[in-house]
Amino acid sequence: MTIDQFNLKGKTAIVTGSSTGLGQAMALGLARAGADIVGVYNSTAPSNKELIEKMGVKFVGIQADLSNLSSVPLIIEKSIEAFGHIDILVNNAGIIRRNDALDFTESDWDDVMDVNIKSVFFLCQAAANQFIEQKTGGKIINIASMLSFQGGIKVSSYTASKSGVNGLTKLLACEWAQHQINVNAIAPGYMATANTEPIRQDPVRNRQILERIPAGDWGKPEDLQGAVVFLASEASNYVHGSTLTVDGGWLAR
Ligand code: NAD
Repeated sequence: MTIDQFNLKGKTAIVTGSSTGLGQAMALGLARAGADIVGVYNSTAPSNKELIEKMGVKFVGIQADLSNLSSVPLIIEKSIEAFGHIDILVNNAGIIRRNDALDFTESDWDDVMDVNIKSVFFLCQAAANQFIEQKTGGKIINIASMLSFQGGIKVSSYTASKSGVNGLTKLLACEWAQHQINVNAIAPGYMATANTEPIRQDPVRNRQILERIPAGDWGKPEDLQGAVVFLASEASNYVHGSTLTVDGGWLAR
């Protein structure tokens, strides 16, 4: 084992939701390890082209709405057009809706499931078909959550979707390991991003959360960079169907 096994030079990584929060940090981490980046962003977020190309790798932005499947083939086609191959897919785009389970609406259910699990599955499928056609194998990293393991509160569709991500990661790993495709997930703990702004602004929830984190603070998006580079690299070639928690010790408590 040498540090070279973490080198991603010459690899192409697709990162969804790459313009903000955890996706942005993971795209920067993969770029720093040498990968060219395809950043998938929705209409409200700008791309990170300048920031990433400063690191000496190439960046292509693809604007796509992952609330429906029409952009899935387009993402693969445009990536191949730009770089000739894909090697890594990070399914990071995700949304959350908060309401009591008794009042939860169908649209708050469907909107979250469409982005957080349906698009994730069909992007995995499209990437895996491409990896098999290339005969190169590949790396898929799905972004799970503490709510892949726990119930949470007021986030029915989010918990269902992220629990689904955990199960799906294992199923796909079982089906695709034979093709040298590694499917794994990262479960971030409580990280300081737009997604968690409402609970960080709630003094009671904020205190309750901080009291439970052994590391004593909210995670920073950069805290995911080591995990994503590991799971995207040769160093993890025998790791299949794992969900790696990066949570300051939250689940260990
Ligand atoms: P964020 O809101 O900054 O990032 C979500 C990203 O998804 C954004 O870039 C957004 O543009 C993109 N996105 C949303 N809907 C989309 C759509 N329809 N089409 C295309 N892109 C879309 O929040 P974040 O915290 O960085 O979240 C990133 C991922 O990490 C999500 O899957 C989230 O569930 C997960 N996560 C976050 C935390 C946390 O504490 N912040 C913890 C566990 C898991």
